[in-house]
Formats: sequence, C-alpha cells, structure tokens
Amino acid sequence: MQPTIDQPFKFKFQFSDQNGNATSVFSLKGSFDGQALQLDKESLVIAGLLNVVRRQNRMVLTGIRDEGEVVQFILILSSKGVAAQLKQAVDIARSAHWAKVHREQLVAAGRGSSYRDATCPHCTATIILSDLPVTPQLFCPFCEALTTVAASAEPPANEKEFRLCDECGMFSHPQKFTIFYFYFLLVVYGFWTNEKWCCRACMRKDAWKMLAGNFLFVLGVPVAITQLIRAYSGSY
Ligand SMILES: [Zn+2]
Ligand SMILES: [Zn+2]
Repeated sequence: MQPTIDQPFKFKFQFSDQNGNATSVFSLKGSFDGQALQLDKESLVIAGLLNVVRRQNRMVLTGIRDEGEVVQFILILSSKGVAAQLKQAVDIARSAHWAKVHREQLVAAGRGSSYRDATCPHCTATIILSDLPVTPQLFCPFCEALTTVAASAEPPANEKEFRLCDECGMFSHPQKFTIFYFYFLLVVYGFWTNEKWCCRACMRKDAWKMLAGNFLFVLGVPVAITQLIRAYSGSY
C-alpha cells in the first residue's frame, strides 16, 4: 500500500559522506507520505525528487529544493528491505505525479490524444511513452528493469534479474562484489576493502588482480578465490 499523509512510511536512517561513512553516530528520523520526503530537518516534495538510486541498504537521492537549488543526499537505511520499500514508494509517487503533469501539458497544448503511458510490471511506477514507438520490450527508468510486453515475444528466463551494470552499462545480472586486499608491510598490517555493483564479466579483471595482489600475504587469498569463483559461475 502506498504511504499517505495519514499513514506515512516511517524509517530510520543516517546521512553518509562520499566515502560511504555515516556522518552521525545516531540514527535520524525520516518519513514519506506520498507527497514529500522528510529527512530529519530536510524536506523534498515528490516533483523535485529527480533521481533515486539504491544499492543494498544505501540510497543516493538527487533533488531540487523549492528555491531551485539542486541537492544530493547519500542515505544509509537500517536494511536493504527498508531501502527497497522506500525507493519503490517514492518512485511510484513521483512517476505518477510527473505523468499527470505531462498529460496536463499535452492537453493544454491541444495534444491530449498523444498521451501514452504504461505501468512497470516490476515496480508499478508510471512510465511515460507519449511520442515513442510501440516496442516489444518496456524499459523502466525507475527500477531499470527491462520487461518483454509483446505477447508474441518469448522473454529470457531470468529477465526479472536483468539490470544495467554500474561498470560497463550493459544489461546483465549485476551484484555486490567485494574487493579485499590484505597487506603486511614489515610492522604494519591491515586490509583494504571496497564494494562494487557490477556484472560477472566486469568482476573478472578485479578478481584476478585481487588474487595476484593477495598472493604474497596468503590471508587474503581465500577471499580472492571465492570472488574469482563467483565471477566465473552462474549467469551474467
Ligand atoms: Zn520499474
Ligand atoms: Zn559489467
């Protein structure tokens, strides 16, 4: 059910810096009521929520304030389930709002009959299709799912999982990939880790580099081998 003013979707979050570190010790309160997103003291209306990207429990929000200033927030939500729920609710509300405004503009310009939209079968956001040709597949700019809609076309078996890879931009099966380096430099030892969201083909070069880089210090080798196996197994 979509959140409403009477029943807003409430969540706890932390703001993050560009390196992915939380900027506050304690969680802050957030809520979404279908009209505006409240992030602690910050409030953004749906019409101004330009872009929302989610990876696991993190979200990058690009919005525009009433006075025209473009702002970006990186949020850390309590779980990836909460982040997914929030993104979907925001996408449904803002896409429906944009479609309504678009339709009104077409009607005002005397082109009301050229309005066309579709509901994403995956996230149920409204996709504006006015002036676009009818195609066998439907791309949703909100959840990035590509869905076969033509009755005559046979969709690929794992079509639901296909998304754009952050690294190569191709349709594939991107997933979280952990890069891990253990190092030991005479008296200093430690590890360096990073996370990426990419397809298996893109994982491969990092997986081999990781194996080579960790070979000297043995401890990182099991992680490198695990990621190498992941990069070469299953679908793209
Ligand atoms: Zn969608
Ligand atoms: Zn890729």
